[in-house]
Amino acid sequence: MAVDGLGAYDQQNIFAKILRGEIPCRKVAEDEFALAFHDIAPQAPVHVLVVPKVDCVSFADFSATASDAQIAGFFRAVGRVAAQLELEKPGYRLITNMGRDSGQMVPHFHVHILGGRSLGGQLVA
Ligand code: 5GP
Repeated sequence: MAVDGLGAYDQQNIFAKILRGEIPCRKVAEDEFALAFHDIAPQAPVHVLVVPKVDCVSFADFSATASDAQIAGFFRAVGRVAAQLELEKPGYRLITNMGRDSGQMVPHFHVHILGGRSLGGQLVA
């Protein structure tokens, strides 16, 4: 079920557990600001999630409440991960789902990096 992305932060959400090391993931990169790992149900040949190390339920929450350093650190990490995945030349797509209508499932802000094939021009189904 999709979440509204605006509620209180749930320390038991799946990405909080991954960040704490309680649940394994296929790690791509990690620094003080973010953890990147492969999506468990990839929707493209490359499908990596980048998760900030901040207790924020959604993009709305992150953009409003995270510090400038956390926001800069996170988005620089997203760029570095995409480069590390060698997606800069062929290109890639970033997606973040925010709230119920977007279909956001996990109530911890994250960015999807999708690539590895032509993704087409259609942004919504
Ligand atoms: P959302 O719909 O919230 O933007 O995306 C959540 C993503 O998390 C989905 O693409 C889903 O496949 C992925 N996901 C859910 N549970 C797990 C998990 O336990 N491990 C990993 N690696 N990905 C997960």
